[in-house]
Amino acid sequence: MNEEIKCIGCGSTIQTTDKDGLGYTPNSALEKGLESGDVYCQRCFRLRHYNDIQDVSLTDDDFLRLLNSIGEEDALIVNVVDIFDFNGSLIPGLHRFIGSNPVLLVGNKVDILPKSLKRGKLTQWMRERAHEVGLRPEEVVLTSAKKNSEMEDLLKTIEKYRKGRDVIVVGVTNVGKSTLINGIIKATAGVQELITTSQFPGTTLDKIEIPLDDGKFLIDTPGIIHNFQMAHYLGKKDLRLIAPTKEIKPKVYQLNEGQTLFLGGLARFDFIQGERQSFVTYVSNDLGMHRTKLENADAFYEKHVGGLLTPPQQDEVSDFPELVRFEFSVKESTDIVFAGLGWITIDSPCVVAGWAPKGVDVIRRKALV
Ligand code: GDP
Repeated sequence: MNEEIKCIGCGSTIQTTDKDGLGYTPNSALEKGLESGDVYCQRCFRLRHYNDIQDVSLTDDDFLRLLNSIGEEDALIVNVVDIFDFNGSLIPGLHRFIGSNPVLLVGNKVDILPKSLKRGKLTQWMRERAHEVGLRPEEVVLTSAKKNSEMEDLLKTIEKYRKGRDVIVVGVTNVGKSTLINGIIKATAGVQELITTSQFPGTTLDKIEIPLDDGKFLIDTPGIIHNFQMAHYLGKKDLRLIAPTKEIKPKVYQLNEGQTLFLGGLARFDFIQGERQSFVTYVSNDLGMHRTKLENADAFYEKHVGGLLTPPQQDEVSDFPELVRFEFSVKESTDIVFAGLGWITIDSPCVVAGWAPKGVDVIRRKALV
């Protein structure tokens, strides 16, 4: 096929072979497009017709090229993260690529947080973690891509910091970046037609540009794939199950020393030492919890993973990573966070262990609630 054909929505080189790659267009659509003179890649086609943005996979080279190009722009960088998987959301080395551009750190999916959680504590925690990895955001904001009112607030904050510059939105996959971009498009009514029907000269590959009213653009970059996300180990059905869609209802478990709590078959929490006390879980309301004796927990898992303990499903068990153990000695009010899944809050001193699939983090933080 002709290498020179570009998508008129995003500027990617059109190709018909790699479904998940940039610029993919099915052959039939390409023929139609050539006839009418409007060739769109599938991603832009869907954006135009279904208001649905897809992620495409980037190779490491593409990824570096993308990050490097960000540093050359004069823009406000909006880094979208999932507040349920903060560590899994971080883009390694982002601060090195953005140059002197200001960053807004946006914690998405705030709609599922229990009302009891203090937002100020969460943003403070996010700011501290960002600093640890060298990122110094102008502001940390919480939002929900699913709520129009939150989108309007976010747009106001973006307006405050962009000071006449372009806006570049970056994020790893699954943080809700596509939903957020779609939300922004909806909130800035009328713009939708512009994105897809005009051609933007000089548009670099692999970006969607949404015009802002002062001639600048809001630029959506492809989702960056991050390997340490729980999401990569699960099928679509399980993903739906662990990704909370409604406000999380905290559950309280009274445990004795020597008891274990399984979070489906995805994670495990051992109460190793301490007074009988209550532990509060903040995970998807649909995730089944099971209590057992610590001394039997290994055998229990072996026997029931994929059955009583799901996800993973039975046919996924053979590919599912083994659980890895992290031990914590807790002195004050603490959350043990299972990246991408949720957390367990502890109030009294004790020794516990958190287990998660190999590659997924279990960390501690000062309790948020
Ligand atoms: P992307 O890979 O970063 O573009 O993420 P998507 O936009 O595809 O979203 C990933 C998942 O998170 C989907 O299941 C969305 O429905 C869900 N999601 C996105 N934004 C929100 C939000 O604000 N709240 C909730 N509860 N779920 C969200």
